[in-house]
Amino acid sequence: MNLKAFPQFFKKINQLISPARINHQLISEAAIDVVSKLQANNYEAYIVGGAIRDILLDYSPKDFDIATNAKPEDIRKIFKYSRIIGRRFKLVHVIYNRETIEVSTFRTAPTEKIHMKNGILKDNEYGSMSEDIKRRDFTINALYYDPINKKLFDTFNGKSDVKKKIIKLIGDPQNRFTEDPIRLLRALRFSAKLDMNIHHDTLKHIEPSMNLLETIPHSRLFDEILKFFLTGHAKNSLKIFREYNLTKKYLPSIDSLNSNFERFVCKALDNCDQRIANNKHISPGFIFSVFLWQDVFKLWKNNETQYSHSSLALNDAIDTVIFKQNKIFPIQKRFLTAMSEIWRLQIRFENLSQKKVYRLFAHPRFRAAYDFMLIRSECDQFDKNLSHWWEKFVNSDDKTRKNLITNKIYV
Ligand code: ATP
Ligand code: MG
Repeated sequence: MNLKAFPQFFKKINQLISPARINHQLISEAAIDVVSKLQANNYEAYIVGGAIRDILLDYSPKDFDIATNAKPEDIRKIFKYSRIIGRRFKLVHVIYNRETIEVSTFRTAPTEKIHMKNGILKDNEYGSMSEDIKRRDFTINALYYDPINKKLFDTFNGKSDVKKKIIKLIGDPQNRFTEDPIRLLRALRFSAKLDMNIHHDTLKHIEPSMNLLETIPHSRLFDEILKFFLTGHAKNSLKIFREYNLTKKYLPSIDSLNSNFERFVCKALDNCDQRIANNKHISPGFIFSVFLWQDVFKLWKNNETQYSHSSLALNDAIDTVIFKQNKIFPIQKRFLTAMSEIWRLQIRFENLSQKKVYRLFAHPRFRAAYDFMLIRSECDQFDKNLSHWWEKFVNSDDKTRKNLITNKIYV
């Protein structure tokens, strides 16, 4: 062996393979099964990305991604319950009861620093594992773990960055942000989610690259923004959104709120984070109805004198606020319907006639509107006696409900 090359060779091996102390209790059996079956068929296979990062932080990963040198068609043949998804770049979803494991074939990093016309990155060539590692965004997301042989491949010192709580782009930050500007938002999202700092080399390119976000297709941007608020760190995300002027850009209604609505939004976001911690779901419509509530409420109250009925004033306020928001950052139609319903149902909590109560209770959007009303009540925006009545009604059996309605007892 060439002695001159030896230290470099030694360093490389040292970086690539480290005896791993990965908590297997946090790995899903399904993920291990996928790796083991791929390896049994003579393919390379690793658990990659966010799952390993989260396990090192002692969090339970929300999903598992596997990277392999098997091609989608090969993967499909190995797993009976699997399907190929994606047109531009095929992935395979392997289904295990309620869990879906995403399996992707190693890809190369984009060779040209350009976008296609529609803002989609040229990164759809198959490649080797070492190429696949280089195309990952941050060092903390470039960890490859083989759970069968218990080996962690850590080319970019991701494990040390996880421990130091540092988010650092792989490669030249300017190029990596230009290649795919969604990484700007991902850096900010991970800092909110994981309470991490962004490395200064990465950080200094964030503000100057913000205008690149305009090249991202709206649906991709929308999905990324939703992840800030629907995955258990909504309150931190709001802080980051304000700090980096993302509220001004996308959600000006919550850029600055009066103290009462600030309380309302913070309470709602706390509730959302709590729900995620308890493995419950949050609907995007609920989050947006919270965000735009101050604008809707103010306009509703301003409009009231012009209308014969308060609900007409509310409808008008809703239309105006949604129109304004849609010019800035459109919200998808299906969420708009949910938001409008949550707002419109607020008035109906004031009417305790038997027919009205049961009709409201049976409304498909009752639960979200009820949660919304309870938060309003906590913030002195809704009569506390009435909200207590509803709490009692919701948590009672049929007989007690009937009594509550007949006697209209406020407790
Ligand atoms: P989480 O699922 O908790 O949001 P994650 O890191 O798993 O975090 P995913 O969107 O599930 O994020 O992506 C899985 C992996 O794919 C990432 O860990 C990263 O290695 C890679 N990846 C995702 N998006 C990009 C991107 N835009 N550029 C480069 N690599 C990416
Ligand atoms: Mg993930």
